[in-house]
Amino acid sequence: MGHAALLKYNLAMYRKLILPALFPFVLPMCAQAPADLKPSVEAQLPTLIEAYKDFHSTPELSHSEEHTSAKLATDLRKLGYSVTEHVGLYADGTKAWGVVALLENGPGPRLLIRSDMDALPVEEKTGVAYASTVHTKNPDGQTTGVMHACGHDIHMTVLLGTAKELVERKSQWHGSLMLIGQPSEETIDGARAMLADNLYKRFGKPDFVLSEHDDGGSAAGDITIKGGPLMASSTSIDVVMRGVGTHGSRPEGGKDPILLAAEFVLLAQTIVSRQVDPQQPAVLTVGTIRGGLKRNIISEEVDMGLTLRTSSEAVRDQIIAAVRKTAEGVAVAYNMPVDRMPTVTVSKTEFAPATFNDPAFAERLTQTAVAALGPEHVLPSKFKMGSEDVGLFSLDGTIPAVMFWIGTTSPEKLAESVRTGVSVPMQHSPLFAPVYEPTIRTGVIAMTSMALDILR
Ligand SMILES: [Zn+2]
Ligand SMILES: [Zn+2]
Repeated sequence: MGHAALLKYNLAMYRKLILPALFPFVLPMCAQAPADLKPSVEAQLPTLIEAYKDFHSTPELSHSEEHTSAKLATDLRKLGYSVTEHVGLYADGTKAWGVVALLENGPGPRLLIRSDMDALPVEEKTGVAYASTVHTKNPDGQTTGVMHACGHDIHMTVLLGTAKELVERKSQWHGSLMLIGQPSEETIDGARAMLADNLYKRFGKPDFVLSEHDDGGSAAGDITIKGGPLMASSTSIDVVMRGVGTHGSRPEGGKDPILLAAEFVLLAQTIVSRQVDPQQPAVLTVGTIRGGLKRNIISEEVDMGLTLRTSSEAVRDQIIAAVRKTAEGVAVAYNMPVDRMPTVTVSKTEFAPATFNDPAFAERLTQTAVAALGPEHVLPSKFKMGSEDVGLFSLDGTIPAVMFWIGTTSPEKLAESVRTGVSVPMQHSPLFAPVYEPTIRTGVIAMTSMALDILR
């Protein structure tokens, strides 16, 4: 057998033997979406838009989703789901605001659908009528605006719409639904907190995990999806550059940590550009820098917060090692006393592994989405340097999982952006404003069709 023929034979065997073994509950042909799905979603759109605007105008930061989770729980309970609140335990022992809603419908697969719930410390500047005016204090005590700048309000709305469709279509599927309202995605410790609170022991281990995220870079009305690597891993690193304090007029009597931090920030930019294989995607960003108390005092310490994104574990380890060497190297060059060397701490809790979509499961759901939305509205996704903790629900990829993207920007604005070269406002921007009606409609149709296909 030639190479090409062998490949073809292997693929055929994979489809014939391996796929059915991987998906014992899934029938070989993908389902057409029910004919009444579109009118039914259309009928519930006004209620969903109201829920969306309510979520949008009352955002809460990670770890503080008290009222958001209560609203989501109340709405899911009204639909007939059996709801448990306050699921989740953080590493420091505090409880999380996680929501689990179950609907048992006879024997069959167990499907987990996840929405996150938290907002960001961003001052909203969209100017929309339902804009957030919420302000709060962040963990450092600074006053900040709060905004659903990542669109988790869209995710909760799509979850509610899907929950209603699936309750009303119980005769069209069998198995169990496990809907998750996850806290603290932005601090990437919410999924871990829910799992640490014995999520699967208490509520059952799912056979499939499904989720979606909105995407300012694609058109409202479209979804994008891909199998394989989807998003980078995220690692939080704290670098503390220490110095020796003295009077600002006598620098020779101390060691200036602000100068060392400045050197470090610039040198750190050469790690990705000059040490990492250019074929390997990686980003290292110094996102926070704090030091000094007064103009005429050379301070004792500068704290820096870094985020690292990679698609491979090996590159992650390589960059962490280089960050340590760079920080130490700068201090050594300035003749820092050994007891004042910098410290580099890699967070054990603020870490998310790379997000991976099960290729066969993604392929199947792509076909389902094409049947529901039309081929022109289902496009291939790119690998993104953003990160997610949804992958933790798949238990290291042992449970087939897929996250897909829902476009949120009007096609006209996207076309204009291509023409002018000026980027449209993306997630985390104070100007991020999804065109909510087509976005929610498309999200609910896509998510419901996929769930029905998995559970039929
Ligand atoms: Zn985000
Ligand atoms: Zn997000």
